[in-house]
Amino acid sequence: MNAPAEFALPKVNVEEKLFQDRYRVDVGKPHIKVRDAGVCASCAAKPCTVCCPAGCWSIDEDGGIDLMVDGCLECGTCRLVCDEGNVDWNYPRGGFGILFKFG
Ligand code: SF4
Ligand code: SF4
Repeated sequence: MNAPAEFALPKVNVEEKLFQDRYRVDVGKPHIKVRDAGVCASCAAKPCTVCCPAGCWSIDEDGGIDLMVDGCLECGTCRLVCDEGNVDWNYPRGGFGILFKFG
């Protein structure tokens, strides 16, 4: 039996990849919202803050959630990891959001 071939994953610089995207902000109309900020404040694990590849979710100084959807990749991860169902997730309106074709 032959030994398995060596397999190495390619190294990827996420910041470099993200820099190749473009984003059209729909000012005043975020396509993702938190349904109830109080639920986030009492959410112990806050998985949304570590799972978003674009870093849109962070913990604010009061222990709540700060959500900035500019740069969102529309992957849907934040909605899936929130066990509380507290993420109101929609695609951006037509003409807004992420453009992937530059990299
Ligand atoms: S996982 Fe859900 S409830 Fe918890 S902080 Fe994130 S959005 Fe809020
Ligand atoms: S859809 Fe993906 S990129 Fe956008 S905020 Fe949620 S986890 Fe982040």
